[in-house]
Amino acid sequence: MNKRIGPSEYLREGVYIAVSIAKGHWVTLINLFRPKVTLQYPEVRWELPEGYRGLPSLPVDIDSGEDRCIGCGACARVCPTQLIAIESRMGEDKKRVVDSFTINAGLCMFCGLCADACPTDAIVMSDHYELAAFTREDMMYDRVKLNELGGNREPKPKPEPKEPIAAKTGEEVS
Ligand code: SF4
Ligand code: SF4
Repeated sequence: MNKRIGPSEYLREGVYIAVSIAKGHWVTLINLFRPKVTLQYPEVRWELPEGYRGLPSLPVDIDSGEDRCIGCGACARVCPTQLIAIESRMGEDKKRVVDSFTINAGLCMFCGLCADACPTDAIVMSDHYELAAFTREDMMYDRVKLNELGGNREPKPKPEPKEPIAAKTGEEVS
């Protein structure tokens, strides 16, 4: 048998609904005057903090027009997800020639270990974080893309010439 709903139940329901609506509007009203925590992305973007780690990159020295990679493979060995692929060979002048350098951005966890391990500071963590792509191939960053990502940078400062030991101790050098 169906229980009949009396006027008091209708009244209680009505009050409950009115209070709920008032609460919702109150929350909206309060948040109108609070500092915004969201941005109109992509028109507006966060200012990234110093030391932010995006995708690794290979900046190019402006004087030589080349990056500083010597193909030692230290970055590939230290990478926890083994996503760096390097092909290099010994050149005629006994220096390694880097034939290809590829990073699979889909596997990178932005730990920065590759940059820490690089003996020539060739790898620099960029501030690039927009990595969405339609294909797996688009997630592969070859040396050209990594150079573009890194941009240009000042060449490494040359080491200061060492003072003669005699000059340090105050003796005259003949
Ligand atoms: S550690 Fe540096 S120099 Fe060595 S292969 Fe990696 S990027 Fe190149
Ligand atoms: S940031 Fe970490 S995961 Fe990404 S390439 Fe470097 S070592 Fe590998």
